Amino acid sequence: EKVKKWYAQYPEEIPTSIAYEKKPLHSFLMETVARFPKKKALYFMGLDLSYEDLLSQAQRMANYLQSLGLSKGDKVAVMLPNCPQAVISYYAVLLAGGIVVQTNPLYKERELEYQLKDSEATFIVCLDILLPRVTNVRDKTALKHTVVASIKDYLPFPKNLFYPIVQKKQYNMVVKVEQTEDTHVWKQMMAIAGEEFKEVEVDPQEDLALLQYTGGTTGYPKGVMLTHFNLTANVQMAQAWLYHTKKEDDIILGVLPFFHVYGMTTVMNMSIMQGSKMVLLPNYQPEKVLQTIHRQKPTLFPGAPTMYIGLLNHPSLQKYDVSSIEACISGSAPLPGEIQEQFESVTGGRLVEGYGLTETSPVTHSNFVWGRRVNGSIGVPWPDTDAKIINFDTEEEAAVGEVGEIVVKGPQVMKGYWNRPEETEKVLKGGWFHTGDLGYMDDNGYFYIVDRKKDMIIASGFNIYPREVEEVLYEHQEVQEVVVAGVPDAYRGETVKAYVVRKKGSTISEEELDQFCRERLSTFKVPKLYEFREELPKTAVGKILRRQLVEEERQKM
Ligand code: AMP
Repeated sequence: EKVKKWYAQYPEEIPTSIAYEKKPLHSFLMETVARFPKKKALYFMGLDLSYEDLLSQAQRMANYLQSLGLSKGDKVAVMLPNCPQAVISYYAVLLAGGIVVQTNPLYKERELEYQLKDSEATFIVCLDILLPRVTNVRDKTALKHTVVASIKDYLPFPKNLFYPIVQKKQYNMVVKVEQTEDTHVWKQMMAIAGEEFKEVEVDPQEDLALLQYTGGTTGYPKGVMLTHFNLTANVQMAQAWLYHTKKEDDIILGVLPFFHVYGMTTVMNMSIMQGSKMVLLPNYQPEKVLQTIHRQKPTLFPGAPTMYIGLLNHPSLQKYDVSSIEACISGSAPLPGEIQEQFESVTGGRLVEGYGLTETSPVTHSNFVWGRRVNGSIGVPWPDTDAKIINFDTEEEAAVGEVGEIVVKGPQVMKGYWNRPEETEKVLKGGWFHTGDLGYMDDNGYFYIVDRKKDMIIASGFNIYPREVEEVLYEHQEVQEVVVAGVPDAYRGETVKAYVVRKKGSTISEEELDQFCRERLSTFKVPKLYEFREELPKTAVGKILRRQLVEEERQKM
């Protein structure tokens, strides 16, 4: 009924172009505070933080960071799960003129070291339980200062909510952090700092707000340079798209992590820009999500297909009232049609598929939330976003229905990859961003994804770069050759499989390799499946045919 009413009420009336306000990202927080100082900005495990408190704490932190020497363009790694400090730190860094380097709190030491070195971060904000990891790598990086937050800063000791963000063992340890010259305790920082800070002049179209790491179309993670304007433009597009939501009366469910561009834009920045309330969850646990929807009554729920699948299949779904949900945008992986229908019938709201990448801040396409949508399609390009399909070899525009690479142009497209001019030039050839995704367009301008050109694996919404896992396995003395691929998996979308050729005489087992990887990689990157082979299929120039292996797996299924 709700859907029918919307259909009748709101025809497709989305602008194809927007008069953008070209401002620094943080100015939207200040404007929202001026409009709704007392309104709740966020909810986290029983805590409500108002917009004026959020700004006041961000200003204090900006003041503190500047007093430690942070100046315009300095990089600050923010290694936090969704929690108040993640939002405060993000805006504090921007207010102080810094660049946020989003850092996954699941990173193990080698991953953290790589990112800190590559980004040249001089500051890091992390949780107390993550401090040992930071301490072990800091001498190998340019880090000068560490700000240590604790989940207890805002709350009584929580229960088990942070699993599996951290290992149980680590979580239970008592973390006592002393304030020193280069280690700064969150609560003391807030107590010492004033609210005044030096305002830094920002050129929204030139100055970076963010380095967001991704594997991009090839290889090892690279820092995507996103400007203030890239990010504000994408949120303004989102607002135009979600044209009949409640805006400041919306409550946005924040279960997508903010350290990934998808949650950062569609939950955190959008909520702040329109003055909504965001409800934060530090990780995805289906029952917690259902409970939170029941109690906090969110109206918008951006997510990934596996999240919706997990909720629909939860045995206690019936116990909870999920009818507050009005609109969901599903991204990051293909959305199965049945899931869309089931989720809509359970919530009475709308679930539509969208598409995007880290390099595009992230959204470039989606279906209409309250208008026409096509199952199996990622929708049409967002306002001011041009998209076309090109032939791989000739780069000529493909005919309607012909499969080729999706390329896009628009204000949300990144400035480039940090310190990688050659790779930047390659993906921004001719002024079009080459997504590396294979797709086609139909007569009505709706786009469809066929496959990924790149080999990145997406398992349960997490990005895994095969090369990184392969490099770890190659470090094992008994591994001769290895290739890692994402093989189809009914629940996770894809799962990580390693095909290994052992060295002569070696009898190394799956368990031993598993242990080896677990010590060196975040759990989500550790291969779930192994297959030992005598040799691996290769091209004439010796390149391992990863896609052939994936195809074999598909055939088997
Ligand atoms: P990331 O840079 O982490 O945002 O990952 C971007 C990649 O996710 C894209 O290049 C696509 O391969 C994939 N992706 C995003 N949205 C969709 C979708 N709706 N359907 C299929 N793949 C998607």
